[in-house]
Amino acid sequence: MLIHSAKFLISNTDINMCPKPDRPEYAFIGRSNVGKSSLINMLTDHSKLAKVSGTPGKTVTINHFGINIDPDKKMKGWYLADLPGYGFAKRSKKQRAEFERFINKYLLKRENLQTVMLLIDSRISPQKLDLEFANFLGANQIPFTLIYTKVDKNKGVETRKNIEAFEAAMLESWETLPKSFRSSSKNKEGRKEILAYIGEINSNFVLDLS
Ligand code: GDP
Repeated sequence: MLIHSAKFLISNTDINMCPKPDRPEYAFIGRSNVGKSSLINMLTDHSKLAKVSGTPGKTVTINHFGINIDPDKKMKGWYLADLPGYGFAKRSKKQRAEFERFINKYLLKRENLQTVMLLIDSRISPQKLDLEFANFLGANQIPFTLIYTKVDKNKGVETRKNIEAFEAAMLESWETLPKSFRSSSKNKEGRKEILAYIGEINSNFVLDLS
C-alpha cells in the first residue's frame, strides 16, 4: 500500500469524541519507549507525525491520524490510533487506574477497530506487562497482531531468542499465536509487510454501524 497522505485528526481523553467509526482502524500500543512513535512515523513516511519521546508523557490521550483519506481522489482511507504507552513507572497508582479504565473502554467499545498492533521490544527478554496485556486482549477476544520492534539493534541470534521466548511464554496460555511482524524504524524492515497486511484487511472492511 502506498501512503498518499497522513494527517493528525484529534487527540482526546473521551472515547465518545473519537472520529466517526466509518473507516477501518488500527490501534498501536506498547510499553513506553517500545518504539511506537518511530514505527508510526516510519510506516506513514512522515518523520514527525507521532512525537518521538525524550521524556514519556504522563497524559493519557488517544491520538487519531487519518491515512489516505482523500474524498477528491475517492480514497476512503483508514484511521491509525496512537494509544498511550503502558508501564510508565512515574505514573501514580491513580493515574494507572485511570489509564486502564480509559484504554479498556476504547478497546472493548471501538466498533471499527480491526486489530490492535501490540508492539514488543525485540531487544529484551519477555516482559510480564506485555504478556499480561496480550493475555487481556486474548481473554476479551480483541484481535491483535504482534510487532517486534528495533530488530536492527541486537545481533540476529539474540533477537530471535527474545522473540522465541516471548512466543513460548504466550503458548503457555494460548494454543495459537497471533500474526506477527518484525520491524525496524531505522532500516524500514517490516514496512512493506505491515502496510500490505493493513491494506488486505481494509479491502474486506464492511461498514456496519447498526
Ligand atoms: P515510544 O515511547 O514507544 O513512542 O518510543 P519512541 O519511538 O519514542 O522510541 C524510543 C527510543 O527508541 C528512541 O530513542 C528511538 O530513537 C529508539 N528507537 C525506536 N525505534 C527504533 C528502531 O527501530 N531501532 C533502533 N535502533 N532504535 C529505535
